[in-house]
Amino acid sequence: MAQKAEEFKKEKEIFLEHIQKSGLRRTAQRETILEVFLRTEEHLSSEDLYRIVRNEDPNVGQTTVYRTLKLLTEAGLAREVRLGDGRTYYEHHFDHEHHDHMICTECGEVIEFFSQEIEELQDAMAEKFGFKPTHHSLRILGICKNCKKKEKDLQSAAPGAQPRIRVKTTIG
Ligand SMILES: [Zn+2]
Ligand SMILES: [Zn+2]
Ligand SMILES: [Zn+2]
Repeated sequence: MAQKAEEFKKEKEIFLEHIQKSGLRRTAQRETILEVFLRTEEHLSSEDLYRIVRNEDPNVGQTTVYRTLKLLTEAGLAREVRLGDGRTYYEHHFDHEHHDHMICTECGEVIEFFSQEIEELQDAMAEKFGFKPTHHSLRILGICKNCKKKEKDLQSAAPGAQPRIRVKTTIG
């Protein structure tokens, strides 16, 4: 727990430095948004974060949350992630290892994974094309373990059961 507080201290310093460099003022609202973001180990859209922040400070506006997320991204504390539903999500970037994502198109579950082998193959492929990679995000869409199980249970349901309607996400 103490280590976590230390980590936040470093991230707060980075944020403050970035704010000052951008000629902005340190405000209580921005600090609240930063803290809530750091406490939440999830993939959050600006709207998601706004909903959580509002519980702590009802005066914070949606635009302030959006702009602060942009500042966090510029400062290297957050990074944008696209999960395939056309929305932009944010996750922790500072002190966080690179990883890629599997996304369940049934329930929206996001699994983070890392494979040294896949990373190396990607680099080798880029090299083959004389391409200098600066960034990548690998996204695998499919059906998670739980949903696969539910699907199987459904198949063994009595005939005449309504087929389940699936909302497909569009690849953004
Ligand atoms: Zn990767
Ligand atoms: Zn699922
Ligand atoms: Zn992630």
